[in-house]
Amino acid sequence: MTAADRLAEIRRRIVRAERAAGRAEGATTLVAVSKTFPVEDIREVIAAGQRVFGENRVQEAQAKWPILRSETDGIELHLIGPLQSNKAAEAVALFDVIHTVDRDKIAATLAAEGAKQGRRPRLFVQVNTGLEAQKAGIDPREAIAFVERCRTVHGLAIEGLMCIPPVEDAPGPHFALLAKLAREAGVAGLSMGMSSDFEIAVGLGATHVRVGSALFGSRPKPV
Ligand SMILES: *Cc1c(COP(=O)(O)O)cnc(C)c1O
Repeated sequence: MTAADRLAEIRRRIVRAERAAGRAEGATTLVAVSKTFPVEDIREVIAAGQRVFGENRVQEAQAKWPILRSETDGIELHLIGPLQSNKAAEAVALFDVIHTVDRDKIAATLAAEGAKQGRRPRLFVQVNTGLEAQKAGIDPREAIAFVERCRTVHGLAIEGLMCIPPVEDAPGPHFALLAKLAREAGVAGLSMGMSSDFEIAVGLGATHVRVGSALFGSRPKPV
């Protein structure tokens, strides 16, 4: 199978899941997660028509995307990995969407950088729906108040919520919780679902699914 075949198959599966859920076709954006893969592999996926990509490390994205962007118009780049304050300036300069806002300090830094650079990436708040100690994201019990503080204290528009369910859990309840929190917080975006569970996420209202290995192949090590 070529990259174009794999991309077409994933898009078919997304459309099928949208129809099964009674959602509009095209309601879900596929974020192609290209972390760890070299520019040659990414070029094949761009050639097949994909324009929206996700990376989880600022430095790796800086090494790969300026050249790829110079070759093709309309690339949209999403940061899906944890963001440190000392990388915020670079992240604001490089990414169109940041999925991992999860604390006041990073919200304040992103607001300041946005003002300084005159560039405001679209933002999602990451929610740690499984309350995992090692995982980034805000406690679900604090998520609604945090979205509100992003608006009122930091002056940031929040587009939606994002989660990564614990690997050992069935993902559905986590996606359903994220959808409920988003409704209560008054945000429309839902970034949820990866290679193993994106159809479940689409069924529960995902607006963005983040698919890596099903599209690019397996990664050498978990990251
Ligand atoms: C790596 C990663 C993905 C993609 O995972 P796959 O299982 O390869 O589809 C999605 N979201 C985040 C936050 C990731 O780090």
